[in-house]
Amino acid sequence: MREDLQVYDNILQLVGNTPLISLNKITKDFKGKFSAKIEAFNPGNSSKDRIALYIIEEAERKGILKPGDTIIETTSGNTGFSIAMVSCIKGYNCILAVSSKSSRDKIDMLKTMGAKVYVCPANVPADDPRSYYEVAKRLHQEIDGSVYINQYFNQLNIDAHFHSTGPEIWKQTEGKITHLVACSGTGGTISGTARFLKEKNPNIKILGIDAFGSVLKKYHETGKFDKDEIYPYRIEGLGKNLIPSATDFKSIDRFMKVADEDAAHAARELARTEGLFVGYTSGAAMHGLKLYSEEGEFDKDSNVVIIFPDHGSRYMSKIYSDEWMTEQGFMDNHTANAEMDIEI
Ligand code: PMP
Repeated sequence: MREDLQVYDNILQLVGNTPLISLNKITKDFKGKFSAKIEAFNPGNSSKDRIALYIIEEAERKGILKPGDTIIETTSGNTGFSIAMVSCIKGYNCILAVSSKSSRDKIDMLKTMGAKVYVCPANVPADDPRSYYEVAKRLHQEIDGSVYINQYFNQLNIDAHFHSTGPEIWKQTEGKITHLVACSGTGGTISGTARFLKEKNPNIKILGIDAFGSVLKKYHETGKFDKDEIYPYRIEGLGKNLIPSATDFKSIDRFMKVADEDAAHAARELARTEGLFVGYTSGAAMHGLKLYSEEGEFDKDSNVVIIFPDHGSRYMSKIYSDEWMTEQGFMDNHTANAEMDIEI
């Protein structure tokens, strides 16, 4: 059982210092030692707490943000939740411009945390004045003293992980880590963590995870943006249809692409084998780790850390719903949820 029975001033003191937990069963056929950094232990249940807190506190340090000012971002996902949580504790207004594709649950969750949510049409180009990018930009220009987080193009996103995730993993592995496996969306997590770890030991290998339907892997390999790589996919928060400047491609050694179906089954397998109820991208990272292992990336001396970015509860109507899995054509007997109907 945990020993730290400290009383905290507020929930923000619990951001970071997430546990590293050994993976014992799911990796039993792989060479090496594996442990997972469980970002769902952050109070907002994802790694995005780190960047929300860091970027907002940097703006405070630079005197850009004063109590009562406004923080703006375009997201309905984890980043929106984390910014809303930090804003409510610190007394800022939080405005989130989200796409009309976002689920009602997500919009309600953000409103519950006190955010003002602008729902913008999903089916318009990014440069249309009604798009969520343009709405956020316009609000930022109109509202005095507002800060636009802009996570895909903000270098502080990288710095947040350089100053927290990287040092934590170094300390937790006592400097023995040999490989990092991490998803890339904005690229902040993998880039910031990689920069710190490579400063400590340049031989640590940084293995990225991308999605089929995203441009990141191809860009990493060729330096070219290939729009033919882009097509719709299901995994949320992984990969991208543009090149984010919050990704330091030089700090990453390789990328592996993962398919929607494989990621969903890997997430379900993590719940059943390790008791880890984590999100869709955690499943993607887990499947990617398996593919890296099959390609011979690891040997018996490897000490591999994999980052699991968020909690499974945000995906109940998706990968953890047998109905959704069946609709996607993903269902097989391997990970179907056991259910007994008892007739009385
Ligand atoms: N997983 C989830 C669930 C996410 O929301 C994100 C953020 N888009 C990522 C992984 C990727 O993290 P990063 O943006 O730091 O690359």
